[in-house]
Amino acid sequence: MRVLVADDNLISRRVLEAALRQWGYDVVLADDGNEAWKILRSPNAPRLAILDWMMPGLSGPELCRRVRQAGGDRYTYILLVTSRAEKQDVIEGLEAGADDYITKPFDQMELKVRLAGGRRIVELQDQLLEAQATLREQATVDALTKVWNRRSILEILEREVDRAEREHSPLSVAMADLDHFKQINDTYGHLAGDAVLVEAVQRMRSSMRSYDSLGRYGGEEFLLLFPGCEPAAAGRLAERMRAEIEQRPLDWQTGPIRFTISFGVTTLRADQRLPSEALLRVADAALYQAKQQGRNRVVALPAE
Ligand code: GH3
Ligand code: MG
Ligand code: MG
Repeated sequence: MRVLVADDNLISRRVLEAALRQWGYDVVLADDGNEAWKILRSPNAPRLAILDWMMPGLSGPELCRRVRQAGGDRYTYILLVTSRAEKQDVIEGLEAGADDYITKPFDQMELKVRLAGGRRIVELQDQLLEAQATLREQATVDALTKVWNRRSILEILEREVDRAEREHSPLSVAMADLDHFKQINDTYGHLAGDAVLVEAVQRMRSSMRSYDSLGRYGGEEFLLLFPGCEPAAAGRLAERMRAEIEQRPLDWQTGPIRFTISFGVTTLRADQRLPSEALLRVADAALYQAKQQGRNRVVALPAE
């Protein structure tokens, strides 16, 4: 773990540096408060900081205040080093946002264990942030295909409908459903079915533009959003995706698996105002027609 040592005294810096390296820390040095502040607000700043109280530029307590005011996701654990052990000073340092303090000349073992305490806190926070990121992903992304889950894609649809209205731009919506997917599961097994779902997503993605969205709407049903797309362009996009999927089979362990997909497409025109439910209803009706007409095709209907 990296530790910032900010001290204007060369001897102090050297002593601290040597001790810290011996304990396995990577040391970043600063010889005044301004330099320390530059390091602390850099993108990959050390999470542990040992700050001298008195330094040119910014003092230790001033640095503490700035770090706390800047906030940020990642906590910086600050240990103030002071030669003054007056009670009032200690209160001021802690009030400024320091987590702990140590008085000069310091006892090496005491510094070591106090730093270890700081390290535990930083590591604990990292674990929490990681768990939080995992939970967030689980709540928004489909575990199998890694595209938006139903709730997320519906939220994005709401936002896109609002935006289309605000910016007077069209929004195309496509509902896609794999053809005879039950048969694929029955013939090749559920794992093969899963692999087909993942492959279908990859091929649809390869035709998407950066601002398009794709979500898993149901079992083998997907919702695609094409902001700014007029009906003709949306039809072409869906057609390209359909062809990508029909073109080549999935290379499965037991042999190639052919699979196809049907699309129902509709477009909210630039001058139109409709709730998202209406768009979903029309896209679904178009998909139904595609299935009725023999599957492996794109059917587009005007939104109303
Ligand atoms: P159609 O062409 O009319 O859409 O027929 P279909 O067989 O694709 O449609 P149906 O709704 O009858 O069957 C869908 C199947 O998808 C049934 C369900 O077991 C399967 N399925 C849903 N989710 C998953 C999944 O995550 N993995 C796998 N392997 N199968 C799934
Ligand atoms: Mg299906
Ligand atoms: Mg279905």
